[in-house]
Amino acid sequence: MNETVTLTIGKQKNIALIAHDGKKAELIQWCKDNSEILKRHFLCGTGTTARMITDATDLPVRGYNSGPLGGDQQIGAKIVEGKIDFVIFFSDPLTAAPHDPDVKALMRIAQVYDIPFANNKATADFLINSRFMDEEYDHEVINFKQNIANRAETLPTQM
Ligand code: PGA
Repeated sequence: MNETVTLTIGKQKNIALIAHDGKKAELIQWCKDNSEILKRHFLCGTGTTARMITDATDLPVRGYNSGPLGGDQQIGAKIVEGKIDFVIFFSDPLTAAPHDPDVKALMRIAQVYDIPFANNKATADFLINSRFMDEEYDHEVINFKQNIANRAETLPTQM
């Protein structure tokens, strides 16, 4: 079995939208500015962000729990399941958040699965205007079956 496996991010992306409170207005404006592109994809987001974008635009955004109540972790789990393949997360670098460990966990799992991840508007602008938005994109991620097999074989079973 190979150490990596090729996964494909489809032409229609599953995009998660998240903004901390101080950045929600900026993300809503960004969604309005890019609604022609966004409406060609599947959108979801943390609870409050999803609701506010849906209310302010004509974009349907499926809402998970609110971020501080586990929404970031739900989105991380969907990345692991291969059901989210693109993240726009306007985090606020100037405000402490109670769920900072969840935010870090989401960033980490997006890195593990080689998911496009924008944490500010400039990165989001570059991503959304990438030619890959209209194409399939193949990428290599760790083969987790092989990873488990290797670990189970090599880790000690006795003290
Ligand atoms: P919210 O969560 O969209 O429910 O506000 C976002 C976050 O702070 O992670």
